[in-house]
Amino acid sequence: MSMQESMEPKARVEHGIVEPVASVETLEVALGNMSIQRVSHVLNTHAGRLEVVCGSMFSGKSCELIRRLDRARYAKRKVLAIKHAFDCSRVSSESICAHNRGAFPAVAASSVPLLRSIIESNMRLSITERANVIGIDEVQFFEPSIVPFLVGLVSTGMHVIVAGLDMDFRGEPFGCIPELLARADETLKLQACCFVCGEPAHFSQRLIDGQPAHKSDPIILVGSEESYEARCRLHYTCPE
Ligand SMILES: [Zn+2]
Repeated sequence: MSMQESMEPKARVEHGIVEPVASVETLEVALGNMSIQRVSHVLNTHAGRLEVVCGSMFSGKSCELIRRLDRARYAKRKVLAIKHAFDCSRVSSESICAHNRGAFPAVAASSVPLLRSIIESNMRLSITERANVIGIDEVQFFEPSIVPFLVGLVSTGMHVIVAGLDMDFRGEPFGCIPELLARADETLKLQACCFVCGEPAHFSQRLIDGQPAHKSDPIILVGSEESYEARCRLHYTCPE
């Protein structure tokens, strides 16, 4: 056995997580004798992963994100959930909420720098406390710089799951979503039911006083059922 192998901690891998057989202290002592590169090699049993869940409003994106984050928790992964919030100038406690059911504890951030500070704080936690699965809801509202940030995060071995609207109310691709879709390991496009006919719908119709909004109206308006409807291609009115 080489000197390097003899210094390697005895750890068992379960559900993709390296867990020390003896104690955290034993692992930390052993890791202390290694180079940064070697530590990274031991800890990163995963290559990292980016999953993108997208679709129209009322298509169940947040519900699917919550399901995936719950599944990660059942698999004994540590999860950090983040959601976009417009009225948040600093980090605050929130929940990812699905229209139909369920909620998942999350922290809120309104910009990529705030998102970065939340995740960097996580990376400074001990190995037993650090989240290795990160979920982000309403990801389409973050600035374009979220793309290289998340791609870099995945390259460190992080499992990242994001959910967001793929099109705005004008039927145009929404913000960072197209590039995230292109760079993802796995994508899922969900459909809602058309509010008019009940057929599968992938457009988000914005209504003001019951009428389709105009193209010149601002894109961002955090909506409810009163101001948005899911529509099929037949019943969607493209704003003029
Ligand atoms: Zn329809």
